[in-house]
Amino acid sequence: MNYLYLIIILLISFFNPLFAENSANKIKFLLGQFKPEKHSEFVNLKQSIIPVARDNLYLKKEVVEQLEKLYKQLKHDIPDAKFWITSATRSYWHQKQIWEKKWEKYKKLYKHNNQKIAQKILEYSSMPGTSRHHWGTDFDINILQNDYYNKDNGKKIYEWLKKNAMKYGFCMPYNEGRLQGYQLEKWHWSYYKLAKQYQKEWNQYFKNNYFDIYIDFKGKEFFKKYAYIYVNSINEECK
Ligand SMILES: [Zn+2]
Repeated sequence: MNYLYLIIILLISFFNPLFAENSANKIKFLLGQFKPEKHSEFVNLKQSIIPVARDNLYLKKEVVEQLEKLYKQLKHDIPDAKFWITSATRSYWHQKQIWEKKWEKYKKLYKHNNQKIAQKILEYSSMPGTSRHHWGTDFDINILQNDYYNKDNGKKIYEWLKKNAMKYGFCMPYNEGRLQGYQLEKWHWSYYKLAKQYQKEWNQYFKNNYFDIYIDFKGKEFFKKYAYIYVNSINEECK
């Protein structure tokens, strides 16, 4: 037997399952189907200088490093600024709980019209598997109300972030003036340098229907119709 032929056969059989496994891991990562506390690239914010609202908030290591730099500069520029992280990485299973709880809440109100229920939840909440919070790049700060950022401390930090966050790789994905997607969220920020790559990969897997066997939640029949629009209707500065 030709040795070259044998080597090729061996290489194919060795790399094929490996490739399949890597690809499954990537899909699970993009959908948030992993535990950040067990993921080697994630850091607990308790181990950083950044104030947190509660325990067990995780972000990717590079994101925490950049966020620490941003925080130091913010405190230098506005010493009395109060800035903290309220929410960070959220798993697919957590998002499914949020989604299905809202589904129950709106079921009667919208007389079991599933499309209307889905549209209502999508004003502020993502379908499981479509949240930027899955990627370890996105987080919510301080208070989850737009009004909070119109005066006092909220206004101070919001205006500072709008001017400076970009220098550290951060942007606000759900800004004003978009024609589709989620409502304005002044509290949600993203490390777009990593997130834009994940978003591209998410789109590729989505278009090739790779996610279908991984997702299961109430109203999942609307995944095809809405997921792509909501993932991609973001601030141009984050792309
Ligand atoms: Zn958020």
